[in-house]
Amino acid sequence: MANEKIILTGDRPTGRLHIGHYVGSLRRRVELQNSGEFDKIFIMIADAQALTDNFDNPEKVRQNIIEVALDYISAGIDPAKSNILIQSQIPELTELTFFYSNLVTVSRLQRNPTVKNEIQMRNFETSIPVGFFTYPISQAADITAFKATTVPVGVDQLPMIEQTKEIVQRFNYIYSPDKPVLVDCEALIPENESCQRLPGIDGQAKMSKSLGNCIYLSDSADEVKDKIMKKMYTDPLHIQVSDPGHLEGNVVFTYLDAFCKDEHFERYLPEYANLDELKGHYTRGGLGDVKVKKFLNNIMQETLDPIRTRRHELEKDIPGIYEILRQGTNAAREVAANTLSEVKAAMRINYFDDAELIRAQSEKYEGIKD
Ligand code: ATP
Ligand code: MG
Repeated sequence: MANEKIILTGDRPTGRLHIGHYVGSLRRRVELQNSGEFDKIFIMIADAQALTDNFDNPEKVRQNIIEVALDYISAGIDPAKSNILIQSQIPELTELTFFYSNLVTVSRLQRNPTVKNEIQMRNFETSIPVGFFTYPISQAADITAFKATTVPVGVDQLPMIEQTKEIVQRFNYIYSPDKPVLVDCEALIPENESCQRLPGIDGQAKMSKSLGNCIYLSDSADEVKDKIMKKMYTDPLHIQVSDPGHLEGNVVFTYLDAFCKDEHFERYLPEYANLDELKGHYTRGGLGDVKVKKFLNNIMQETLDPIRTRRHELEKDIPGIYEILRQGTNAAREVAANTLSEVKAAMRINYFDDAELIRAQSEKYEGIKD
């Protein structure tokens, strides 16, 4: 149907989901889901993509599918409203990837800043697997297969959306200029800058499963407290309480930017009205890190507690979760198959359904009977 509003988004099952995923994308997905503004929502567990850099450890990917599914549903994704699907079980996505790879050059892929950065992070410089190098193309297949119009993601995904838009444009220009088959999409990134790329608790630029610097949605209350109070990076120059503190690169304040609301001050730190006041005191000096960390811990516990409780309930019926994934995947596969047949028809490689082709070919040979 024309003008449908469709969401596609997803995560790689390389670990449990962390609070970077939550503020970067998951929290928004739940809001969008509950807004009722979208006709269809597809949430993908990108296992095939995870295998591009974990090909030697398929067990890791296999084990984490259920973890990601549990995290989704406990964070508020409702399988009655959102289709959760497993990428590798939809072979149509691979076929689309294959056809789209003709529309992308090697040098274009080499320019992708996120892939460049990830290659470095994984020490792949001299031996980049082709599958990893080309995963932006497979991501374009995922987005277009479901005719997604809206893709809620963190900023690291913007180059992928750019690449997808180029593929859509080229495909439609070459194969379906009169009636575009592929639908253009827009990224939806968080407005709050701290949420666009949440740093790790160690102060590194990005909280990431692969870097081991995460607070997971499923961490116990004690684990969360420990990570905040004992491990979290603050301001190395803030030695005495009376010293002026710095906010730049101070993870505790970045997390407060991402999670804190004025009502949290009423509940946990009534001597300040809002975050600006707290920041003001910190930068003037006289405010200790422990006090700020305790405040952050209260907020994190309040945010994560209901997610943790729902998770414990869901963990009691694991076969039920796999059933949700099976149904979501089956429904999504129908949609992807539909798009693939439109793609093949536009490329005119649907030979057996092409009566005109068969007729024209037989006419060509009509005179040559012996
Ligand atoms: P990996 O290290 O295996 O790549 P990851 O932690 O980067 O894992 P992905 O599954 O690659 O997680 O990312 C899933 C989604 O979460 C993407 O939309 C991405 O932009 C978003 N995201 C991941 N990490 C962060 C973060 N630290 N801050 C904001 N958004 C994030
Ligand atoms: Mg990633």
